[in-house]
Amino acid sequence: MEKLRNFIDGNYQEPLTKEYLENFEPATGKVYCMIPNSGTEDVELAVQSAEKAYPIWSKMSNDERSKILVRLSEGIEARMDEFVQAESRDNGKPLSLAAHVDIPRAVSNFQFFATAILHYASESHNMEGVGINYTLRKPFGIVGCISPWNLPLYLFSWKIAPALAAGNCVIAKPSEVTPYTAYLLGQVAKDAGMPDGVLNILHGEGSTVGDAIVKHPKIKAISFTGGTKTGEYIARTAAPMFKKLSLELGGKNPNIIFADCDWKEMMSTTLLSSFANQGQICLCGSRIFVQREVYDKFKEEFVAKVEKTVVSYPADPKAKLGAVVSKSHMEKVLSYVKIAEEDGGIILTGGKQVKLDAPYENGYYLRPTVIEGLSFDCRANQEEIFGPVVTITPFDTEEEVLMMANSTDFGLSATLWTSNIKRAHRMANEIQAGIIWINAWLVRDLRTPFGGVKSSGVGREGGWEALRFFTEPKNVFVKY
Ligand code: NAD
Repeated sequence: MEKLRNFIDGNYQEPLTKEYLENFEPATGKVYCMIPNSGTEDVELAVQSAEKAYPIWSKMSNDERSKILVRLSEGIEARMDEFVQAESRDNGKPLSLAAHVDIPRAVSNFQFFATAILHYASESHNMEGVGINYTLRKPFGIVGCISPWNLPLYLFSWKIAPALAAGNCVIAKPSEVTPYTAYLLGQVAKDAGMPDGVLNILHGEGSTVGDAIVKHPKIKAISFTGGTKTGEYIARTAAPMFKKLSLELGGKNPNIIFADCDWKEMMSTTLLSSFANQGQICLCGSRIFVQREVYDKFKEEFVAKVEKTVVSYPADPKAKLGAVVSKSHMEKVLSYVKIAEEDGGIILTGGKQVKLDAPYENGYYLRPTVIEGLSFDCRANQEEIFGPVVTITPFDTEEEVLMMANSTDFGLSATLWTSNIKRAHRMANEIQAGIIWINAWLVRDLRTPFGGVKSSGVGREGGWEALRFFTEPKNVFVKY
C-alpha cells in the first residue's frame, strides 16, 4: 500500500517516528494509503531546515519570490487532473466539485498572492517640520499553517501562499483526514524552483504533530483553520508564548429569505448553500429562516428539489452530493438528526444513510436532510453540525429574524434574500457575522477580508489582511 512521506528540506522523507496512520477513502470506506504519524522530532527537523532557508528566501526580491509562486500555481494547473482525482478520492466530494472549485481556487490563491506581493506597499507618516515615519513590513521568520479537511488544498494554499509571498518559511500541516493533495504539492514546489526548506509539509494528527507546531518556540505565528474547540486550545497554548494568531473557526450561518426575493435564483442558490460539498463548507447556510407568508411555498418546493438531489459515488457525473469525509463524521451528523427529533423536530426529507451498490456499499453517504418545527435555540440550531442538514424556520418581522440569526455563539457568514435595498443594508449592518452575501452565496473576491466574529474566529485572511498578518510592522523615524 502506498505510503505518503513528509516533505522536509526539499525532499520527501519518512517520519522520524517511523509510525504511520491509515487513510480512508470515504467513497468506499476502505483504507487506501498510509500517512506519516509525525511527532515533535519531525517538527524539529523541519524547523532546522526552515532556519537555514530563511535568509535566502527573505532576502530574495519580491519579484523573484513572485515568479516562483507563479510557477508553483502553473505546476498545479499542469497536473490538474491528478490533483482533482486525489482531492475527490481523499475527501469524498464529487469529482466535478474538485474540478470546478477546489483545485482551480488553489491555483488562484497562489496566483493572487504571487502578484499581490508586487503591489504591497507600507505607510509613511509625515510630521510637519519634525521628521518622517515610515513603516517597514518584515516577515516573521518561520510560521505554522494548519488546515482542515473540508476544502483541503484550497484552504491549505489560502494560508501558505500569503505566508510565502511575504518572505516567511512555512511549516504546514494538512488535516490527517485529507493529506493527499498537500503531499503532491511538495514536488510541485520543488519543480517551481522553491529553495529547499522554505516550504515543509508534515503529516499526522493534530494532538501530536499539530501541537508540536503550535508549541515550537521558533515558530512565531500560527494560522489555523478548523473547529472552534481546537482553536480555543491553540489560543490557550500559543498566547503565553506571544505568538501571533489567526483563527478561522466554525460557523452556524443564517440564510434569511424574504418574500420579495428573486425566487428562482434564491431557490437554486439555497440548494447549493445548504448542501454543496455535503454541507461541509464553513460558509454553508444551515439555518434557513423564511418569511411566514412564503414559508409553505418554500417548504414544498425546496423539499421536492432536495428529494431529487442525487447522492452518489464521487466519480458519478450525476452526483450532486458525494460521501461525507469519515465514518465518525457521518455518525456525528446522524446523532444531530436524532437530537433534533428528540427536541421536537420533524424530518421533512433525508435523515438517513444511503447504501450504494458495490464497491461503494461501505461508503459514508447521507441523504440531504431538511428539518422543521425546531425552536431557534435548540441544539441543532445552535451547534455546528457541518453536514448535509438544514433546519427551516418561519419568521414574521425583521426584529424577530435578527434576534434568531444572532442567537448563536458563531458569527462567520450570513446570506440575505430580498429585493428591498434599504432592508438589505439595514440587516447587513445588524447581523453579527464577518461576511454577508446579499442575493448571492460564496461569491469570493480574494482581495476582501475573510473571517468571522464571536466564536467563529480571530483575525482575517484574504488580500492585504493576509499579508499584514504574515508580516511585522517596524516603524522608523527620521528627523528633518
Ligand atoms: P479540527 O479542528 O479537528 O482540525 C483542523 C486541523 O487542526 C487539522 O489539521 C487537525 O489535525 C489540527 N489539529 C487538531 N488538534 C490540534 C491541536 N491540538 N493542535 C494543533 N493542531 C490541531 O477541524 P476539522 O474537523 O478538520 O475541520 C472542520 C472545522 O473547520 C469546522 O468547525 C469548520 O467550520 C471549520 N472550518 C472553518 C473555516 C473558516 O474559514 N472559518 C473554513 C473551513 C473549515
